[in-house]
Amino acid sequence: MLQKEQPLADGILAPLDAQERRWSGLRAGRAGKLGIGLFAARDYSQGETVLVFRGPVLSLKETLALGRRFSYYPVQIGPGQYVDVTAEGEPATFLNHGCGRNSNCGIRGLTELWALREIKAGEQLLFDYALTSEGDPEQMICRCGSKDCRRVVGNFSDMDTKTKRYFLRLGAVSEFVVVILKKAGKLRKY
Ligand SMILES: [Zn+2]
Repeated sequence: MLQKEQPLADGILAPLDAQERRWSGLRAGRAGKLGIGLFAARDYSQGETVLVFRGPVLSLKETLALGRRFSYYPVQIGPGQYVDVTAEGEPATFLNHGCGRNSNCGIRGLTELWALREIKAGEQLLFDYALTSEGDPEQMICRCGSKDCRRVVGNFSDMDTKTKRYFLRLGAVSEFVVVILKKAGKLRKY
C-alpha cells in the first residue's frame, strides 16, 4: 500500500516458499499477472468475516522507515496508524488490491475483512485498498486491468463519487475513514 510508483505486479511478489501456504479457509497461491494472491479455500457467504488484520501497530514514519520490500503491506487503521500484517506471516500479506467493483471484500470496523458477495472456493480475494486509506501521502500504481481501474490506488477520497457511494452504502469502508468524512461534513454527499 505504501509503494510509490511501483507496479502492482511487482509490488505483491511474495517469497516463493509462500506459494503453498494455507490457513483455515484460506490459501496463498499463484495469481497470474498479480504474482501471488490470497484465495478462498472454502465457500464464503455474503457478509461473512474472511479474516482479521493482525500485527504490530506502527506510525506512518515507522512504516516508511521499514522501506519498500516485497509484499510490504501495512493496513491503515487511523490517521498515521497502521497494522503491519506482514510482520507475523499473516494471510493478509498476500491479499491483492482490486479497484472498485472488481473487488469482492470490504472492511468492517477497522480490521475485519468480509465478503461483499458470495465467494466460491478457489476465487481470489481482493479488496480495494483505498477502503482503508485516507490522508496517506504515498501512492501505489495499479495495473489490475479491470474496466474500473483508477490507475492509482490512492486514498478513499480519490475514488469517484459513484464508487464511494457503493462502498459506503454496503458499510464496507474502514470506520476511521467514515469518521474523517463525517467530521469534514462530507458524508451527506453520499
Ligand atoms: Zn486497478
